[in-house]
Amino acid sequence: MQTSTVIDPATAVRRYGLFIDGGFDASDDRPAITRHSPVDGRELAVFTAGDRADTVRAIASARRAFDHGPWPRTSSMDRARTLLRVADLMRANADRLARIETEETGKPLRYAESDVAGSAELFEYAAGLAMSSHGEAHTGLAEDCTAMVVREPAGVAAMILPWNFPLLLLAQKLPFALAAGCTAVVKPSEFTSGTALELAAILTAAGVPDGVVNVVTGYGADVGAVLAESADVDLLSFTGSTATGHAITAASAGTAKRLSMELGGKAANIVFDDADLDDALDGVLFGAFFNNGECCVAGSRLLVQDSIADTFVERLVAAAGRVRVGDPFDSETDVGPMIHAGHLEKVRSHIASAESHGGRIAVGGGVPRDAATESGHFVEPTIVLDVTESAPEFHQEIFGPVLTVTRFADAAEAIALANATEYGLSGSLWTKNIDRALSVAKKLRSGRVWVNTTIDGGPQLPAGGMKQSGYGREMGIAGFEEFTEVKTIQIREGKRNKAFPHIV
Ligand code: NAD
Repeated sequence: MQTSTVIDPATAVRRYGLFIDGGFDASDDRPAITRHSPVDGRELAVFTAGDRADTVRAIASARRAFDHGPWPRTSSMDRARTLLRVADLMRANADRLARIETEETGKPLRYAESDVAGSAELFEYAAGLAMSSHGEAHTGLAEDCTAMVVREPAGVAAMILPWNFPLLLLAQKLPFALAAGCTAVVKPSEFTSGTALELAAILTAAGVPDGVVNVVTGYGADVGAVLAESADVDLLSFTGSTATGHAITAASAGTAKRLSMELGGKAANIVFDDADLDDALDGVLFGAFFNNGECCVAGSRLLVQDSIADTFVERLVAAAGRVRVGDPFDSETDVGPMIHAGHLEKVRSHIASAESHGGRIAVGGGVPRDAATESGHFVEPTIVLDVTESAPEFHQEIFGPVLTVTRFADAAEAIALANATEYGLSGSLWTKNIDRALSVAKKLRSGRVWVNTTIDGGPQLPAGGMKQSGYGREMGIAGFEEFTEVKTIQIREGKRNKAFPHIV
């Protein structure tokens, strides 16, 4: 068995084997995926390119651990203690995890640090759920009848992840599955597999038994598709693009596995004329540029009320011009590079398309050129004005630091514009009028609505989508229940009403 290399991620290439059945495979002589830095092209890490046979082996390991191993049979208090040890070890290794996350994603280090802290909190919260989970008892059905509704672990859970929050999005799934007593096969993004593999080593150190969590790195077609097709996987929890979500749904059609789909988004940030405009300005900037704009809940569409639009947009454009682009390890940096060259080209083509559909670029739009950015996949923070509902960029995920601006007259128009895309993941609104806040929040067709805040949350609060943003919920009690099956057990005190009294 070869463990992951424990070396300074800033100076050496990290090499990882697959993590199956409690240990790391040797990675020598295996087809590999090399991750290069989005900042300067430096070689960062080498992951094994897992294939069908590897994935089948990992599923079999998780299956054995579920059907015969101790984890689903361990008391929920013991499972909770293990999850708390995982959280402690994540905190003890926080610097290393955050550095790897920043290296591989290009997100500013302070955001990676908060991802690690948030991930540890999710393990702690899930431990609490494990401790307190219980079923229902029904004693009033009939005098001679008692029934229980119990929650059991759903089985082997597959988890397929994107590249924008590699550790945090895994932590929105895995601790909840483990708390419920499931076993897992994790497939991280081929661009950002480092922290999932590091977490595997932490799980082992915390006492998670062999086979309970397996990590298979590789491409979607070689690993993800096998998880979708497998009848030995009971549940598949996916986070990624809507197009891939549809492919997974189709591939799993021959099985009866449960799916949870956390897909794309195109959130509106609605600013009413009675908002605290300083708060709204800060929130609109954060919504657009947080995590390099590579965020499923990015507030990528500003909807601003006519009566304040001129002054608000003027302040916004000036502020966006001061957003700092550069090395994500520099504490001054607000926006780092795009994840890879192809994605940079996609973002740039969206900017060009928005312009060709009548949008006006008020700030940014180009590629920064200075010593810090010359060899990376950088794009300037960009604001495009006058983007109407007919422009593709009003509807499509850009997934970069690009904000479109559209004006509205009143609340009815704001709601109609916010709901006009096929997505329904999240939305934010800024107003000091409580009646307006509540009535607009209720009419937005999205899984999360923030009022006078944005991209907020806590482990207790479920997240998930409506419409093409998917279904299923992560975090909170709802997120735990996703990984459970409901079983009804009904007991009679002897059978008084015989179905066959003439025979029995
Ligand atoms: P993606 O859909 O390209 O890839 C996601 C994962 O699916 C990767 O691990 C990939 O290897 C795998 N995959 C690709 N093809 C597959 C196939 N045919 N079968 C099985 N697996 C396959 O997404 P991405 O580019 O990594 O991430 C960006 C997308 O993720 C955006 O659309 C974003 O909105 C979405 N996202 C959603 C949420 C949410 O909570 N709803 C959170 C973060 C990101």
